[in-house]
Amino acid sequence: PHLSFRGRRALVTGAGKGIGRAVAVALSKAGARVTALSRTAADLESLARECPGIEPLCLDLADWDATEAAVGAAGPFELLVNNAAVALLQPFLEVTRAALERSLDVNLRAVLHVSQIVARQMIAHGVPGAIVNVSSQASQRALRDHAVYCSTKSALDMLSKVMAMELGPHKIRVNTVNPTVVMTDMGRINWSDPQKSAAMINRIPLGKFAEVDDVVNSILFLLSDKSAMTTGSSLMVDGGFLVS
Ligand code: NDP
Repeated sequence: PHLSFRGRRALVTGAGKGIGRAVAVALSKAGARVTALSRTAADLESLARECPGIEPLCLDLADWDATEAAVGAAGPFELLVNNAAVALLQPFLEVTRAALERSLDVNLRAVLHVSQIVARQMIAHGVPGAIVNVSSQASQRALRDHAVYCSTKSALDMLSKVMAMELGPHKIRVNTVNPTVVMTDMGRINWSDPQKSAAMINRIPLGKFAEVDDVVNSILFLLSDKSAMTTGSSLMVDGGFLVS
């Protein structure tokens, strides 16, 4: 049987495109009341047309004050998926201050901040909660041109563990999913070069990239009561890349 999230309130960040959008749709279809947070209004408008129950929240997560106000007013939530991120690939020697700051703001700082706001509300309302942070195989392997991205995802894995430790007593679980390459907009921008993608696929024991649904299914599992005793863990959705 499919997982049910009937009556649960969920916040999904980066829900305009790609993995986050698919998570928002899947949660909504499974009965959750979903707030979809993203940056581009047109994406949220098309998502609300596709899935009329979804509540759009248009926001740039790099803006700390706007995030505080908007996320604070939107809650409370029992489920949180921190999915929004940027992948600005540059050779280490050419990393720019702008790319570094944007990546740290969106991939790391906003996850901490949104999670703080949502977890405080969970605790205030006395509800158990589940948080899934979308990390990457890049958190645990060095990849060329990924100095900033790898660093933010590695920090995200450890942030998630400390959150799991401190929020566990409040019955809030925190886990990560760590996908290999997925051909979303982000994946296409960075992995369309056939030589580069073939070299990556050669390192994946299952011999292929992940599909959006592979990642969505793992996120839903970690949000659901089927993973009730799992916290502080990272679920690889990498076709075996990290053991190869
Ligand atoms: P996409 O780029 O396809 O989608 C990302 C979504 O996040 C977009 O809707 C984007 O909105 C939104 N977003 C980005 N920055 C902000 C911001 N500052 N404020 C609000 N929303 C924002 O990415 P994916 O779906 O591929 O990636 C989702 C997650 O999966 C990310 O955490 C990524 O690191 C991770 N991941 C992806 C892999 C891949 O190969 N695709 C592999 C491993 C992990 P907008 O376009 O309007 O900026």
